[in-house]
Amino acid sequence: HARRSGTPTFVVHEPSMNDRRAADAALSEALEGALQRREFTVLYQPIVDLTTRRVVAVEALLRWHHTSLGDVPPGAFIPVAERSGEIIAIGQWVLEQACTQAARWRADGIDLTVTVNVSPRQLQEPHLARDVLGVLAYTGLPAQNLIVEVTESAMVNEAIEIAALRRIRAEGVRIAIDDFGTGYSSLQYLTQLPVDVLKIDRSFVAQLNGTAEGSAIAEAVIRLAQVLRLTTVAEGIEEEEQAAELLQLGSHRGQGFLFARPVPADQIPALAEASAPLPLMVR
Ligand code: C2E
Ligand code: MG
Ligand code: MG
Ligand code: MG
Repeated sequence: HARRSGTPTFVVHEPSMNDRRAADAALSEALEGALQRREFTVLYQPIVDLTTRRVVAVEALLRWHHTSLGDVPPGAFIPVAERSGEIIAIGQWVLEQACTQAARWRADGIDLTVTVNVSPRQLQEPHLARDVLGVLAYTGLPAQNLIVEVTESAMVNEAIEIAALRRIRAEGVRIAIDDFGTGYSSLQYLTQLPVDVLKIDRSFVAQLNGTAEGSAIAEAVIRLAQVLRLTTVAEGIEEEEQAAELLQLGSHRGQGFLFARPVPADQIPALAEASAPLPLMVR
């Protein structure tokens, strides 16, 4: 993992309660105004068809660079932004960036679906549906080119606006459940949710080792998706063996460092139009 030397690095460790509060407070303060100071960028990670290895979609992933804290990983600052409520404005900005970018690619003849993470806090907003449809309208991106990713734990939280998800889905936006299998949704509940895609969590992909035990969860999720007529996307594919096993189990889409890391938008056209399938021979 290459880091620019001299760049201060945010260290993630197991914090005590007091440590966490202090770190939260520092992050929370640093986050204030980060959007206005243009400290955020969006990277895009390819999602490929596991058979053809062509890029079919990209996931928008937020990055934050703070002058003194350096690069802070989303796993560290997103929970803080959720607690402070700033995730609402930040999330809206990511959505605008991603849809603007996808509309630009389309104009250049590269027809990709963009998937955007939406936090539980955004789902509590009564205007979420209006905001999402508004961004589609002014960027000109067809609803069919947008997928909204919601974590499983967010979906089962009763406070969220399932109605908002239903509304955008009625317009053609697809809904994915992120990190599927790590939350607590009952299978019964799943059949009642507005859902199109299940993203198989990276922890289950990491367990694949050619044995029945190793593939148990991934296989169960894939079968469930087949019965419910949902698509699956496997996250965190790092090895060719994992890709092969997933295909054999019936999952046709995948994302992971094997194919490509999250990259700046300007690198996506070359990956999407690559004459050789991913991973490219020269990486
Ligand atoms: P996620 O939505 O599950 O995104 C996938 C994460 O897995 C990304 O981490 C990605 O870089 C990482 N990843 C992809 N392939 C591999 C692989 O082969 N191996 C390994 N070890 N990791 C892989 P990232 O970018 O650090 O994001 C972490 C989480 O932060 C995301 O997990 C998502 O929950 C959240 N996040 C990122 N951007 C946003 C955003 O714009 N809004 C919200 N609300 N959450 C975001
Ligand atoms: Mg995601
Ligand atoms: Mg995920
Ligand atoms: Mg995950």
